[in-house]
Amino acid sequence: MRTFTYIIAGGGCAGLSVALHLAKLSPASASILIIDQDTKTTNDRTWCFWHADNSPVPESAISKSWSNLSFSSNSFSSQSSIAPYTYSMVRSADWYEHMHQELGAFPQVTFLQGRIEAIEEDVLGPFVMVGGDIVRGRTILNSCKPAPIRSLRKPTYHLWQHFKGWWIETGEDTFDPETARLMDFRTQQKDSTRFFYVLPINPRKALVEYTVFSGELLEDGAYDRAFHEYMEQQFPGISYSVMEEEKGKIPMTNRTYRRYTQANIINIGTVGGIVKPTTGYAFLRILAESKQIAHNLVSGKRVAEGHTSASRFAFYDRLLLHILQGEGWLGKGIFSALFRSNPMRRILKFLDEDTSWNQELLIFARLPKKPFLQALWRQLIYPLRQSKRPQADSLWNPTSKLPNSQRIATDISH
Ligand SMILES: Cc1cc2nc3c(=O)[nH]c(=O)nc-3n(C[C@H](O)[C@H](O)[C@H](O)COP(=O)(O)OP(=O)(O)OC[C@H]3O[C@@H](n4cnc5c(N)ncnc54)[C@H](O)[C@@H]3O)c2cc1C
Repeated sequence: MRTFTYIIAGGGCAGLSVALHLAKLSPASASILIIDQDTKTTNDRTWCFWHADNSPVPESAISKSWSNLSFSSNSFSSQSSIAPYTYSMVRSADWYEHMHQELGAFPQVTFLQGRIEAIEEDVLGPFVMVGGDIVRGRTILNSCKPAPIRSLRKPTYHLWQHFKGWWIETGEDTFDPETARLMDFRTQQKDSTRFFYVLPINPRKALVEYTVFSGELLEDGAYDRAFHEYMEQQFPGISYSVMEEEKGKIPMTNRTYRRYTQANIINIGTVGGIVKPTTGYAFLRILAESKQIAHNLVSGKRVAEGHTSASRFAFYDRLLLHILQGEGWLGKGIFSALFRSNPMRRILKFLDEDTSWNQELLIFARLPKKPFLQALWRQLIYPLRQSKRPQADSLWNPTSKLPNSQRIATDISH
């Protein structure tokens, strides 16, 4: 039976990206098998990201870029240039095609379409079970199976950023193609943070996305109703047809996933804990991390633990997760205060975890104090509660004392 040098379990964003770096860095004798249940030829998601320098994605895979972003809520709207940043969109179908082409140039790379049933390691080494067959590799890079969670000595939160998007075409010029609407809160909040995200490709074509931060997903019709209501209110009298739809969910959590499930099984991408918990952005982090992972593997080094934010950014994320999980309806006011008092570029820099203490103080000074002080208090008393309940990490919901606290989702699959 053939043993591959590397098996890439899941040929999505992280899998394809690591595979290409491995193919480029490894000797030609190193064989790489990429397994995915899908053909990865359809547009199963649309990625956006911002960058100050040249785009890390080739121009041919970028379908649109914007130099302005806007924010709206009922009480206030703003729109501004984000220079020196550019906000760019990549349709996943274009990116998969580009990556398949690049990988196709390496004869040592093999693709296999099939559903992976298990990823394990025994005395003979790691293997995947696919379609009832066992395929062995020396190292397996997993981006398709949920990874075990490391226990934290901190409060843990878990909610979903879930959304449905509609690619629409309107009967008349409707959108400003130079401006993407990053957040538009002019929609009912109910018990959670909810907003629209509008990415215009040209004056008549846009991706309109309804996004919710909550512990549980909505039934499909609820996304549709919110969308039709938004279109009626924001673009009254404009006729439109829906060309495509896309749906997704991204974990928003401070849980940390184990990098190594077993000695030679390494978790990457979302199941490797790469997603920024409070925003759901992961695309650029995955591209950057893939290079590092391949480099370590090829030089025989252990792959470092998943993305580690500077501890103060992890702390800020925890405070916001605490509020979003327990009192999600406050999100609208918090984001409104953030965008009202700060230039867009400072916010993007902050979300990149690239700001200085001074800039962070300027940001926090204008945010509503009460929910953050409450969240801070909960973080401070957590260690005291922990010392009284040794196993409380998995039992104590740090938001449970708050009104309308939401159930914590335990499913970590994505
Ligand atoms: C709809 C959506 C939109 C997003 N938009 C953005 C964005 O705009 N900006 C941003 O920065 N981040 C975004 N993200 C977050 C993140 O960038 C993406 O989820 C990214 O694709 C994660 O890469 P990954 O390789 O970890 O997972 P994936 O890209 O999902 O790859 C996992 C692969 O595993 C395969 N797989 C799963 N189970 C099995 C199985 N049992 N057998 C075989 N194959 C299997 C899947 O088919 C998939 O191809 C988005 C996420 C989603 C879901």
